[in-house]
Amino acid sequence: MHIENLSTLFHTDEGVVPAVRNVNLKMERGKTLALVGESGCGKSVTALSVLRLINTPPGEYASGKVVFEDEDLLKVPEQKMEAIRGNEISMIFQEPMTSLNPIFTIGNQVADPIVLHQGKTSEEARALALDALKQVGLPSPAQRIDQYPHELSGGMKQRVMIAMAVACKPKLLIADEPTTALDATVQAQILELLDSLQKKTDMAILLITHNLGIVAQYADRVAVMYAGKVIEEAPVEILFETPSHPYTRGLLNSLPQDDPGKKLEAIPGSVPHPGYIPEGCAFHPRCSKVMPHCKTLLPPQFPIPESKDHKAACWLYGEPEEGTP
Ligand code: SF4
Repeated sequence: MHIENLSTLFHTDEGVVPAVRNVNLKMERGKTLALVGESGCGKSVTALSVLRLINTPPGEYASGKVVFEDEDLLKVPEQKMEAIRGNEISMIFQEPMTSLNPIFTIGNQVADPIVLHQGKTSEEARALALDALKQVGLPSPAQRIDQYPHELSGGMKQRVMIAMAVACKPKLLIADEPTTALDATVQAQILELLDSLQKKTDMAILLITHNLGIVAQYADRVAVMYAGKVIEEAPVEILFETPSHPYTRGLLNSLPQDDPGKKLEAIPGSVPHPGYIPEGCAFHPRCSKVMPHCKTLLPPQFPIPESKDHKAACWLYGEPEEGTP
């Protein structure tokens, strides 16, 4: 599946806010694509656009396509979209308490999409829900299946969310900051779980995170977003070895290093409000390499010399075409 030239904007009292700007991404079976960037850079709006979960209005899919099995999901009837959501494409969110319904048992909640999408009886769905709870490593699943969300720890709730998301064996799983609300040990267990489920089912994963440590360990490919655009994309090992966009370099320099003597460097300034994106390269007010034309001309994606399958939207890697004002 792929996203082609997607732009999603919001109509607000203060004007039009372009949250996602001409984004192109490709998700492949059995692979994890990480979408990284600071909060407000457009990662979650991109994910919600894939599932067509943005309220329109105030949102609008202003351009582009979300192509899944040769169809543009932005154009299919809502009824078809309902058959795809939670079935062929599933999503897990960072805060399981906001997604689990407190008044239903976890067994009912995991069985629901199985009844809805696979036409199973409630008994068959319960058996499949129990299998899914075992598969995600929920302790004592036969007892837990009749419990309510408040009786489970944060890590267990996230396992239940994953069971709901994978119960119908989706082709694509979108994981939006799936471990942010969890402590470090549980985070690692949940990510290992996603990794092992992917190996078993060959699903594609779109992993949305601001945590580059997670990316290094679990992603195959990385797309870095800034101010609604993908500004660098590469296979994970190449991005970490030769980060090329000044923003990506800044993100990596702000990570704790192996060398405890090395000072962490914060990127100066802050992410622009999506309603006030600077002209030209949106990163220019924060960039130490800024050149005069960066302030007026939007850089396209340029291939990075001597690096394979790697591109960055930065004027350090290409010249404006002749005649451009
Ligand atoms: Fe910096 Fe210019 Fe590259 Fe933007 S285009 S990141 S301002 S060098």
